[in-house]
Amino acid sequence: MALVSHILGNCPKCKSIASFGIVDVRSNYVSKGCRHCQYKENENLPPLRKKILYLDQFFLSHTFRGKEKKFIDAAKRIENLAAKQLLIVPFSSLHEDETYQWERHSELIEFIKETSRGHEFLPDYQVEQNQLTKAFESWISGAPPFYKKSEDDVFPKNIHEWESYYRIDVGQYTKDRELVRELKKQSVDSLVDIFDGWRASNTTFEEDVIMELNASAKSYLDSYFLYVERILSGDLMAQLNAPIMSRMVEALLLHTPNDISSDKRLKMIIDFFTSEHFRLCPYQNLSAKIFAALKLQVKQGAYANDIKARKKLSGFFYDVSHISNYAPYCHAFFADKSMSQLVARPEVSLSKNYEVKVFSVETMDDFLCWLESLEEEMTEEHIMALRKAYPKLVLDH
Ligand SMILES: [Zn+2]
Repeated sequence: MALVSHILGNCPKCKSIASFGIVDVRSNYVSKGCRHCQYKENENLPPLRKKILYLDQFFLSHTFRGKEKKFIDAAKRIENLAAKQLLIVPFSSLHEDETYQWERHSELIEFIKETSRGHEFLPDYQVEQNQLTKAFESWISGAPPFYKKSEDDVFPKNIHEWESYYRIDVGQYTKDRELVRELKKQSVDSLVDIFDGWRASNTTFEEDVIMELNASAKSYLDSYFLYVERILSGDLMAQLNAPIMSRMVEALLLHTPNDISSDKRLKMIIDFFTSEHFRLCPYQNLSAKIFAALKLQVKQGAYANDIKARKKLSGFFYDVSHISNYAPYCHAFFADKSMSQLVARPEVSLSKNYEVKVFSVETMDDFLCWLESLEEEMTEEHIMALRKAYPKLVLDH
């Protein structure tokens, strides 16, 4: 006897009336059964390649407020495309971190989870670590400097599967307090405070990118040394509450040969941090370029008014983190206006370098067209499979 979700008709075996139907959809087949006997059958579904869309906080909070028609229309279209197994809109740890600063956070979180339909990205620090360890292994092996992206850098499981009738709840990140780490400390004030220094500097964009990358490497090392110091001084809490950042170097140490001294192993990591392999890690590369491009904007006269700058850049660190971690793995990314302008600058060229379309409120019509194009690409075989797997799904809109 099976728990039938959708009745298709009489059982082919025991002939019970209206007792045979769909039990569930499982990754690549429809599982069917009978309410009265043991009869079961599976029907295969064709392979899927879903598009990946990242909606940043700007899009989600606007849609959630429900006041702007364009956002609501886009959200409805996204929901429909996701139901048709053409698109996924995964939830990320950054959505959760950022949402917790909101007054109506629990409602917004529910809304974001609902939109993601059970799909989630790995937490940001995990993505950062996956890229670092992969690049480090490639550097050790002597392979040429090239970062080969793969979906398992950012997803805990295969995303190209037919969706089950039962959704798994996502986003248990809040239990991990460590997640809310450096980002919050790096307040926008400290950023705006250095703008005067930026305006006076005469470094080139390329030099600024290198400086950003060096700063990133330095923060991994500093944080690791601080952690080691705590351990050596007998601080038993260090292993429990050290910032996740301090574990990056530790993770890399696990990939060094164990027949050399610990000094040499650490030296390897320091050398790696100055390598092209490190620079080409998507997160490192993109976030360094974004900060260097912001510096360029500031030098060219942007954000001249301090008060306005603080307001305009209030979510900047989160935005950089969202886009640098996840955009390289998406087909499309919806960002706020200033971020989309920043990454469109020729020095960053996000779309070209990582083959991702970047949309914002300024290009809402293009975004709607892109969504429509996904629908148009749907094959007959896919439509037939949808009818088999989800008989209640409305296909004609
Ligand atoms: Zn039966």
